[in-house]
Amino acid sequence: MPITFVLMGDRRPGMTTIKTTCSRCGDIHLTPDDVALELRPDGREGDYRFTCPSCTFQQRRPANSRVVSVLLATGVHFEVVNPITEMEIEAFAAALETEPDPLRLLAG
Ligand SMILES: [Zn+2]
Repeated sequence: MPITFVLMGDRRPGMTTIKTTCSRCGDIHLTPDDVALELRPDGREGDYRFTCPSCTFQQRRPANSRVVSVLLATGVHFEVVNPITEMEIEAFAAALETEPDPLRLLAG
């Protein structure tokens, strides 16, 4: 399903309506408070979560750089998620030190 993502002005000052699609209800309107954005460490892309106001179905959609910038402009809450933990980085660094051919690790 293509992701449609349209911002609509609202008569109330400072309020932005985010128009998106619920997989059950079709077109729905959200406020920035309904949306939570999860950014990858590079801050350009991520995922956004929302709860449909009609059917309360929780959904998660990928957010490309354009969607991310639009969501941030509306003032949605966001968090940066780190897919690898520090322990994993340390383990990888330790493996690199003992590995005579580091590229072999990347090859899997
Ligand atoms: Zn719905």
